[in-house]
Amino acid sequence: MRLNCLSCGHAIDLRDAYNDYDGQVKCFACGGLMAIRTQDGQVKWVELLTRPRHDEDSTLQETR
Ligand SMILES: [Zn+2]
Repeated sequence: MRLNCLSCGHAIDLRDAYNDYDGQVKCFACGGLMAIRTQDGQVKWVELLTRPRHDEDSTLQETR
């Protein structure tokens, strides 16, 4: 099963353990964190939780 990262579009390979899964997945390409829900090997719902930090200096204060 594959999941396309909402942040960078990278195809994340999910193992069979994720065929019925409700939790978080981290994109190893960009470091973005997503919450996903899968059922019967299909992605039912995806939400981007955190975007990779490209500009750490300017956003650190606001996200506390
Ligand atoms: Zn990504």
